[in-house]
Amino acid sequence: MTVHFPFQNSYSALPDSFFARVAPTPVAAPRLIKLNRPLAVQLGLDPDILETPEGAEILAGKTVPDGADPIAMAYAGHQFGQFVPQLGDGRAILLGEVIDNDGVRRDIQLKGSGPTPFSRRGDGRAALGPVLREYIVSEAMFALGIPTTRSLAAVVTGEHVIRETALPGAVLTRVAASHIRVGTFQFFAVRRDTDAIRRLADHVIVRHYPDLLHAEQPYHALLASVVARQAELIARWLLVGFIHGVMNTDNCSISGETIDYGPCAFMDAYNPAQVFSSIDEMGRYAYANQPRIALWNLTRLAECLLPLFSDDQEKAVAEAQDILGAFSETFSDAYQAGLRKKIGLFTERDGDEALIQDLLDAMAKNQADFTLTFRRLGDAAGDPAADDARAQFMDPTAFDEWARRWRERTALEPQTATERQAAMHAVNPMFIPRNHRVEAVIQAAVNDDNYAPFEELVKVLAKPYQDQPEYAAYADPPLPDQRVLQTFCGT
Ligand code: AMP
Ligand code: MG
Repeated sequence: MTVHFPFQNSYSALPDSFFARVAPTPVAAPRLIKLNRPLAVQLGLDPDILETPEGAEILAGKTVPDGADPIAMAYAGHQFGQFVPQLGDGRAILLGEVIDNDGVRRDIQLKGSGPTPFSRRGDGRAALGPVLREYIVSEAMFALGIPTTRSLAAVVTGEHVIRETALPGAVLTRVAASHIRVGTFQFFAVRRDTDAIRRLADHVIVRHYPDLLHAEQPYHALLASVVARQAELIARWLLVGFIHGVMNTDNCSISGETIDYGPCAFMDAYNPAQVFSSIDEMGRYAYANQPRIALWNLTRLAECLLPLFSDDQEKAVAEAQDILGAFSETFSDAYQAGLRKKIGLFTERDGDEALIQDLLDAMAKNQADFTLTFRRLGDAAGDPAADDARAQFMDPTAFDEWARRWRERTALEPQTATERQAAMHAVNPMFIPRNHRVEAVIQAAVNDDNYAPFEELVKVLAKPYQDQPEYAAYADPPLPDQRVLQTFCGT
């Protein structure tokens, strides 16, 4: 039996300057450790065949399947504010695109599959830990309903990668609406290649924003659409306590998916200034800075598109500024609407924003767990005697005071307690990929070749909005000695 991927490759049909043709480098002894079977089916692939040794060889980059046209994509990027004119896929190779069961074109990419012309000094490889982290967190984001790249498979290579120590090597198969980033546009902008920018923008419109094909000003509309999707995406991140960690322009997807899970993490106690990433020393990508940074990244995108807007530079800049101006309102509308839902409001009234802000302030002051406070607030909506929400606050009276105002406000709406609880539980997850759990899973895999904890965590996180009483411990925040203070980059 051979593995058949029904590839239809559109990106590798673009001009040669967009990528480098390069095949994955074979590895010693590939072993499949996880296949995302439902995702395989969604992509029109046969999961049983992918689970054969031949399937593992493909997912490790040892053999290239028929119809693949492997390439490393070219891109540039601002990394922590510093512009790098050439980055590119240094350890990832796009095998090709398939059309999924919903008719959506999806990239199938191997990450950690060996060097490419963009590798610079890197080895083109990935360590097992970061591969598992990306698998867990990206699939958790999907289950939470947040736009994201997906993880189709993880394989170990049977080889070691040298980091601070020798670590098991692994390859992640990543699935994305596309891997086109703000940095892809920057790659051509810095080379003043306006034709390429237009080709790329046209490709993006067909692929991600087909409604704009007949727009009067398609490139203006494209910027507006990317701005809207990013604004909504960042609001979704904030509403679940997600911190990306490395919001460089090369990690900012044009399709509006969350991409490139490196030192990312969900916060436990609510703290707007929270940073986990070991490489983010200045807190540039702290939790509450994420909207501002997204707008900064989108401003870089707008700069790339200026030549497509108008020959009159001043006019083009004014138009771009106008479009970027919509970010704040779109973000704030999505964020406030999400917060209203989180506290169980069905309607909007004057004073709601202040009510919500007061809760967040009290949570920050009292180191209340972000996820559990909202989940337990849902319990309190259903049963006024439920007091687990107040138990999240160091000083529970801070909650009591706020809860009195909250009950007055919810009493103005006709919904029953049961309806309110159900609505709240549908938006406030019980389970997030808690950092200490992710770390424990990685340790078991790396040190003991034990994947049972990984399997169980992935299973629990697939149903984040369900109580799953048998797995209740997965909802617990870390004990003081379990707290993970820093996460490390995927390299
Ligand atoms: P990232 O931090 O994963 O967003 O990567 C930033 C840039 O560094 C991208 O161009 C990557 O392809 C490249 N890169 C990261 N790790 C490696 C590696 N081990 N080998 C080669 N290139 C890498
Ligand atoms: Mg990246």
